[in-house]
Amino acid sequence: MAQQQETRAESAVEFVVDTEDTAEREAAHVERGTARPITVVGNPVLHKECRDVTEFGDELAALVDDMFASQRAAEGVGLAANQIGVDLKVFVYDCPDDDGVRHVGVVCNPVLDELPADRRVLDDSNEGCLSVPTAYAALARPDTAVVRGQDAQGRPIAVRGTGYFARCLQHETDHLYGYLYIDRLSKRERKDALRQMEEGTARYETVPNA
Ligand SMILES: [Zn+2]
Repeated sequence: MAQQQETRAESAVEFVVDTEDTAEREAAHVERGTARPITVVGNPVLHKECRDVTEFGDELAALVDDMFASQRAAEGVGLAANQIGVDLKVFVYDCPDDDGVRHVGVVCNPVLDELPADRRVLDDSNEGCLSVPTAYAALARPDTAVVRGQDAQGRPIAVRGTGYFARCLQHETDHLYGYLYIDRLSKRERKDALRQMEEGTARYETVPNA
């Protein structure tokens, strides 16, 4: 009985189905959108909390299209609005989980569920970010994540991820609160990531820092 009640409470908000018609949905966004250059570490828009999305209309839909187009152009698996210079809490993703299942979706005003310490399993795979081009570093993060927010029409949603997709959900939510993954590294590792960036060349258009 207790188990059943818990299940009911958890399902009060529907988990989105983000694994169906993935190629078609992503392609439709990309076709309507225009790729924009990607902001990089040091640009102020990446280092502060973004504004909440409060209007779920055509303007937001157009932004989401541009974000999918930008994500595709930069070959990313996730993109936050401030990575194309827009100060709004919205991210998109096109990301496989550890079973190779593709997830495509959009989350506005994301908030991560706190995981109980005894249910946390850390995964220390490599992580990279379009806003820190060509750099990678190992970063331990919980291997499951649940993010709650709204879809592009303002309906409440929840998204559940495992493995690489769980990492993506945490990484993109961090962006919208002003944090890059390198902010979670040790001083030495962060310096190393920035050095990798200095030595590399992004394969996509970036916004030069002032
Ligand atoms: Zn990133």
